[in-house]
Amino acid sequence: MNNKFHIITFGCQMNVYDSEVLKGILSQKGYSATSKPEDANLIIVNTCSVREHAEVRAIGRLNELSRHKLENPEVKLAVIGCMAQRLGERFLKEVPTLDLVLGTEELFKLPDYLEKKGKSPTVALSFSELQKIDSLPQRKNKFSSFVAISRGCENFCSYCIVPYVRGSEKNRKLSEIIKEVQCLTEYGCKEVALIGQNVNSYKDNGCDFAELLKEVSKTDIQRIRFMTSHPKDLSLKLIEAMSELEKVCEHLHLPLQSGSDKILEKMNRKYNSSDYLRLMDSVRGKVDNLSLTTDLIVGFPGEKEEDFQKTLEMVQRIEFDSAFMFKYSPREGTTAFLLKDDVPNEVKLERLQMLIELQKKIAQKKNKSLIGKTEEVLIDGKSKRDKSSWKGKGRSNKTVIIPKGEKDENLLGEIVKIKIADTDSFTLFGEIIKKR
Ligand code: SF4
Repeated sequence: MNNKFHIITFGCQMNVYDSEVLKGILSQKGYSATSKPEDANLIIVNTCSVREHAEVRAIGRLNELSRHKLENPEVKLAVIGCMAQRLGERFLKEVPTLDLVLGTEELFKLPDYLEKKGKSPTVALSFSELQKIDSLPQRKNKFSSFVAISRGCENFCSYCIVPYVRGSEKNRKLSEIIKEVQCLTEYGCKEVALIGQNVNSYKDNGCDFAELLKEVSKTDIQRIRFMTSHPKDLSLKLIEAMSELEKVCEHLHLPLQSGSDKILEKMNRKYNSSDYLRLMDSVRGKVDNLSLTTDLIVGFPGEKEEDFQKTLEMVQRIEFDSAFMFKYSPREGTTAFLLKDDVPNEVKLERLQMLIELQKKIAQKKNKSLIGKTEEVLIDGKSKRDKSSWKGKGRSNKTVIIPKGEKDENLLGEIVKIKIADTDSFTLFGEIIKKR
């Protein structure tokens, strides 16, 4: 048996992390990763259910990968993650060649299911408890790593499938998180991004998220990020921790979703536009050079032109550094699915385009104002467009490209100070002025 696996990941940073954890578990069991599905005898697709488009792509990919199984019957095909959790047995109708359908917590037991000689295919979906994991995740980016602090969500935003496929919020123990971060530093990691569906509501034995940040700051890690934050749980204590803790980057991802109070209520977001603006003033007043990013949905059921205009007004007023913008996608099982999806697709697309155009202009203007200023960058690779340039992330979470000087030594994994020389809507270009 060749014991090689190939894994494809769709979706959010939590899925990326889950795939990294699974790679660690499989390696411990004697498997090795391959980038070519044709070389693997285990092919895994980690799926996302947040938008219909991601699900359609995953099914297409799985059916295409089925040919490896037809060519070699020893190949096992596994689907894991949110879509596996959502569809369960129904997945076998979409992709009849599947051997394993493992939900959002069962996926970590994949090697055990492979060893079991029971009936095939296997469908396992339990997600009530966090799995205890002993192996270290296998990270793609050695210098900047995701560390999950919680899994699941119980906010039930009306459009969101996550609480149904990942279950209620389960927090990891503070001691486990600290151990993982410290261990990462020993392997050369410089930055961690603490992730969870709503990191702001983290709790372990009386320790909240602000206290967790303080504890992580005491490790040898050099930079700390976190996402995603829910506005309703962004406390003053957390804002103060962000301003006081030097290692915490000046970046906040705070999904607004809509500028209309009527739509926010229908979305069950539990804040209104005034609450959001107050929060903004508070964070911007405390954290210098804050980079603010967000998520926005257009075309939610009942969104009239005036509601959409309110979103545009909020975006104009707040001036986000960047935004993930989507048109509403109805998800079966959510409460919004019961509402009439009454905004025609062409109107959704038109609104999305307008929003993207506006955000692009704002980002361009904001980035231009940074020319001549300095930024601290963690270099994590070469630029895709120009292999002679270094690429990294600033504390603001913006991508930075640094032309490689003739005498530059290997800067991979270094934190350098740069002077910003040029910008576009998504990227900063700079020259190194100091190495740390
Ligand atoms: S906070 Fe809302 S949008 Fe985010 S995962 Fe939970 S239910 Fe979904």
